[in-house]
Amino acid sequence: MGSTDIPFRRGVRAKAVYQEPAPRLDKDNPFQSMMERFDVAAEILNLDPGLYEYLRSTSRIHITSVPVMMDDGSLRVFQGYRVIHNEVLGPSKGGIRFAPDVDIDEVKALAAWMTWKCAVVGVPFGGAKGGINCNPHEMSPGELERMTRRYTANLIDVFGPEKDIPAPDMNTNEQIMAWLLDTYSMHVRRTETAVVTGKPFLIGGSRGRREATGRGVMTTTLAAMQRLGLRPEDCTVAVQGFGNVGSVAAQLFSNKGCKIVAISDVSGGYYNAEGIDIAAASAFSEEHEHSLEGFPGAEKITNEELLALDVDVLAPCAKENQITSENANDVKAKIVVEGANGPTTPDADTILNEKGILVIPDILANAGGVTVSYFEWVQDRQGYFWTEERVNRRLDRMMKRAFDKVYDAAEEHGVAMRIGAYVLAIKKVADALKLRGIYA
Ligand code: NAD
Repeated sequence: MGSTDIPFRRGVRAKAVYQEPAPRLDKDNPFQSMMERFDVAAEILNLDPGLYEYLRSTSRIHITSVPVMMDDGSLRVFQGYRVIHNEVLGPSKGGIRFAPDVDIDEVKALAAWMTWKCAVVGVPFGGAKGGINCNPHEMSPGELERMTRRYTANLIDVFGPEKDIPAPDMNTNEQIMAWLLDTYSMHVRRTETAVVTGKPFLIGGSRGRREATGRGVMTTTLAAMQRLGLRPEDCTVAVQGFGNVGSVAAQLFSNKGCKIVAISDVSGGYYNAEGIDIAAASAFSEEHEHSLEGFPGAEKITNEELLALDVDVLAPCAKENQITSENANDVKAKIVVEGANGPTTPDADTILNEKGILVIPDILANAGGVTVSYFEWVQDRQGYFWTEERVNRRLDRMMKRAFDKVYDAAEEHGVAMRIGAYVLAIKKVADALKLRGIYA
């Protein structure tokens, strides 16, 4: 061993490479609030302290340097992560994000989130998440491709259809999944489509995947309306965010006869008491670089005003921390359906519950995406591809069943649906763990 290795053996360099970060403690951090809810559910379940410790812990953390030859001939090294939180129910599943603020704390928390989301909706996967700390908006397609391929090659022993299956997340897309599939396949010397989901249809993607999350938002909301004795055709809806989730959810609500009185994006809110033509809004947004700015079919309001509208359903489908202790008292909807991850802060959650508003929590409401990812993995492994009608029918069935189970668990324990969802998820993973036994 050369003398340059000595500092590493003393732990000096190892410390520089990776140091366990202190958990983020700010109260509006969605991951922190997820763990708070985990604790409430664990208490209801009277979870054994050892099991509690086990389920909170991360199974494996992979941190890897990703060198990339940039277009100008310089070499840059990015930090890549893949975290496996839990594999008790099956191979781990979770997206890969490219963003400048990706760090190990965030990836760990998102991996745990995936464990509970998969368990709630009943897909046989554990939870994982990955990411690369980079600014993808400043990178060329060639640089992104080289970075994706090197990241995949570095993690070749981690990924696999029976081990760990990535998917798109923030700033990653079908093309990046296609490069990941190709790199993995080259290394294992065969085409392995089931190693990744959210890929293009032509190379093993699933029909209905793009619409799946918005569709799950619609299905769970319809189930909630049924429980509250509301008819879709009598309901008004406001949707915050008009991207993949919000625009599809709005269209599907409209197809079911609901009146969409407000939509919004980062440019602001758009209100029409007579109802907005969602197909026209989607076409407008498509033609204007995904912006609703200047949309003629509605009057302009703010995003804050949208959240306070007197509607039956409010669907926050944009980003985290939108309903806070500052504005939760103004919410008038009967149902809040969380298309986005973490749109309601814990303080706001308490206020909404006190007001008797039914909140369909994110880990249930937006789990349609991971459900169709599961279908994609099944189809790849079977080598037999389903029609869109079949995908949608099975998705609707699984989402409705998951909704009913969560609603009933919440009633049984006298808690909100969010805690009901965590109770179900934690119990499922804990029961599976007990059956498998601890290899200690
Ligand atoms: P997207 O980027 O396609 O769309 C986001 C939309 O929100 C855009 O219309 C944007 O203009 C709008 N927006 C951003 N900031 C806003 C603000 N402050 N006020 C109002 N609108 C704002 O993203 P997406 O894929 O639709 O994801 C939305 C949310 O759903 C995220 O929280 C994401 O994590 C979550 N989610 C997405 C999926 C999926 O399959 N796409 C699955 C599960 C959860």
